Amino acid sequence: MPKVLIATEKAFAAEAVQKIKAEFDAAKYEHIWLENYTDVNEFYKAVADAEALIIRSDIVDEKVLDAAKQLKIVVRAGAGYDNINLPAATAHNVVAMNTPGQNSNAVAELAIGMMIYMARGKFNGKSGSELAGKTLTLYGFGWVARYVAKIAKGIGMDVHAYDPYLADDDFTSAGVKRLTAIEDIFKLGDYISLHIPANAETKKSINLSLLSLMKKGATLVNTARKEVINEEDLEKALLEKKGFRYISDVEGEKVDFFRQNFADRVFYTPKKMGAQTEEANTNSGVAAARQIIAFFEKGDTKYKVN
Ligand code: NAD
Repeated sequence: MPKVLIATEKAFAAEAVQKIKAEFDAAKYEHIWLENYTDVNEFYKAVADAEALIIRSDIVDEKVLDAAKQLKIVVRAGAGYDNINLPAATAHNVVAMNTPGQNSNAVAELAIGMMIYMARGKFNGKSGSELAGKTLTLYGFGWVARYVAKIAKGIGMDVHAYDPYLADDDFTSAGVKRLTAIEDIFKLGDYISLHIPANAETKKSINLSLLSLMKKGATLVNTARKEVINEEDLEKALLEKKGFRYISDVEGEKVDFFRQNFADRVFYTPKKMGAQTEEANTNSGVAAARQIIAFFEKGDTKYKVN
């Protein structure tokens, strides 16, 4: 009977907790809950004899892995897994997984909602514009981007996407036109939405040479990661291009400056909230539980990321 630790500095919603418990009870797995902990030492102690671990944004570094002598698998309930030290997990013979796709619709709805909010002048009572008939370009065409494309097509947007790691069929089957040059994302879009991971290739890659290509009045939407933006260049672009607008769910270092100086053209959510829905919370937690059970029962490592 594997022992699973659910360690969440910020606890799952009540419904998610209930459903995760039901999964482990049905499989007859022992499950231990460390919720809303404030001292990382509590985490080190609780993980000592766990064979499986579910986390949210909790950090799994060398110290946690050193403390987790029995650990075989860690699952991040969510999409991004930059809070897990992957090489260290591999060195400790721990399989690391995420739960891809489970919160993607939530993020996509937020991206589209923020576009409408900005198109309507932040609901200021004045005349605005519509998304229908506008061109949306997607940078990265993974889980979130596909949900964004689906909603945008329903609204009547013309959707194009760039992702060099996919086959032509991934675009045609989604009814989206494929772009083959990064520059085209910025040249064509009335709305340009970022859906790339933050890695060596993409960090600070959204720079002035790309932003300069944008159409007059274009809007850049970032529900991906703050690290992909070159903030100095974003500032230059906001100064140079008077109609350019930036919407973000991820606060960079200069968020206060941007909010103060470009109040009409910049919008940041008060905290990262793309995946903050009851549904996403429950879906990711239940998926994490099921992946752990499938790993122990069938050796299933489909969602392994290390
Ligand atoms: P995903 O892994 O499903 O999709 C990422 C896509 O980017 C993949 O198709 C990959 O081929 C592509 N890609 C990678 N490098 C690229 C490059 N250099 N150029 C073009 N394409 C590239 O991920 P996802 O779940 O769709 O998440 C997308 C982004 O959104 C990630 O940055 C993720 O961390 C972020 N995210 C944010 C929230 C939030 O709360 N705001 C929630 C979930 C995900």
